Amino acid sequence: MFWADRIAQEVMNKFGPKGPMVIRDEKTVSGRVHVGSMRGVAIHGAVHEALTDRGVANTFLWEHNDFDPMDDIPVYLDRAMYEPHLGKPLYTIPSPDPSAANYGEYFAKEFQSVIESTGWTPQFVWARELYLSGKMDSVIRLALEKADDVRRIMKEVSGAERKPGWLPISVICPQCGKMTTTDATDFDGETVQVSCYETKVTYTKGCGWSGRVSPFGGKAKLYWKTDWPAKWKVYGVMVEGGGKDHSTKGGSRDVGKHIAKEVYGYDEPFDIPYEFFLVGGKKMSSSKGRGSSAAEIAALVPPKILRLALLGKDINQAINFDPEGDTIPVLYDQYDKLAENFWTGTKDDYARLFEMIHPGRDIPKKSSLPRFSQVAFLVQMPHMDLQKEFPDADRAELAERALYAKRWLEEYAPEKYVFKLQDTLPAVEITNEQKTNLKQILEFLTANPEAAAEELHAKLHELKAFKEIYLAFLGKNNGPKAGWFLSVLPRDFVLARLREAAQ
Ligand SMILES: [Zn+2]
Repeated sequence: MFWADRIAQEVMNKFGPKGPMVIRDEKTVSGRVHVGSMRGVAIHGAVHEALTDRGVANTFLWEHNDFDPMDDIPVYLDRAMYEPHLGKPLYTIPSPDPSAANYGEYFAKEFQSVIESTGWTPQFVWARELYLSGKMDSVIRLALEKADDVRRIMKEVSGAERKPGWLPISVICPQCGKMTTTDATDFDGETVQVSCYETKVTYTKGCGWSGRVSPFGGKAKLYWKTDWPAKWKVYGVMVEGGGKDHSTKGGSRDVGKHIAKEVYGYDEPFDIPYEFFLVGGKKMSSSKGRGSSAAEIAALVPPKILRLALLGKDINQAINFDPEGDTIPVLYDQYDKLAENFWTGTKDDYARLFEMIHPGRDIPKKSSLPRFSQVAFLVQMPHMDLQKEFPDADRAELAERALYAKRWLEEYAPEKYVFKLQDTLPAVEITNEQKTNLKQILEFLTANPEAAAEELHAKLHELKAFKEIYLAFLGKNNGPKAGWFLSVLPRDFVLARLREAAQ
């Protein structure tokens, strides 16, 4: 069974076949969101679709967490401008440009547009609204009243010690607006005692203010391990997974489930622990590195190919997406195989995957498309007409493949995919033996002007004359299938070049 269907079945075994159910995930919008966060979108989104397919009423909530503090400044932003805002909630920090009301909203909107363009349709909610509306007040009260239990659970489950009197809440300093510089103690049922410290964190200074503050109505935020389970209760979450970094023994999920049960009286949601989505083999931070944000990766491939990258592996397998390697051509080849299987009418996991990678199940009609690597080569050849070369291919699909191939070649493609047809004979060394071979090919082509790509390829194979062809035309030691390559070039040009190179 396809993994999303298997999980949907397990969810139904636990909660019954009808619903309604809430599926939820969140991401802190502290900068450009790393593409790895799309795995959470994809897994929750696919389970949402699989449940809907089974007639289970369910809602998929995506929370933009814009109430977390800024604790680092991404490298692509002006450090001097943002330094004074370190430690403040993201929604209170200025936006990098006027298109958004604040910092959190700016990066949330960028990520949301990727989620939407990739075809997932969660209901978007904001942490700021959740807190400011007072919806968190009842769970905040529980967390503060049972702070001793929170401390005990943290110690028992994760080994973290907190001193007596510690409260699991981060109050926004009424004087400087920072929340990571404060400590809160002594909850009296209405207010807490707050101090803002100059040296509590290393990256920014507090202002020294102290006094009593109400922790309700958006004036404070629960710490992550107490906040996460609180949101489960407030939203009524029944299904929520997490990346493996959260899913270790004693990790935030483990702590969260105990706090949910013992502090809030709420059973943890159905868990879906999942592996990482790596970029070029690394779990890069979104504050550094080219080509690792969701927006950058989503611009490199069409939605169905990004969905294939995200849905093509079971949750316990890591995904490695390397825009500078073979990932993109390999995904297209995988897509073509899935399409071929789908059109045979088979109803297997691969057919189900093929159906699910198309946003809105909008599957293009059956068509014979050239491999992506072939398209990537041809778009580099001047005067090539793809439609003429592949008359049976769906026009829109072929044009889309060409568009993304060009984009990939411009920015990321490895050297072995980059070919420039040389206008003049490249300054490369061609041995006498190779020149003899080139002469024979010249003679063959002169004698067989109508020779098709296959015949030409057979001749080249017989002579083992591939390298000299690439050298003479591309100035490189390698290239695409040589017979086919020569056959798509203007014949006069080919003859003239062979003549020159064979001398
Ligand atoms: Zn302060």
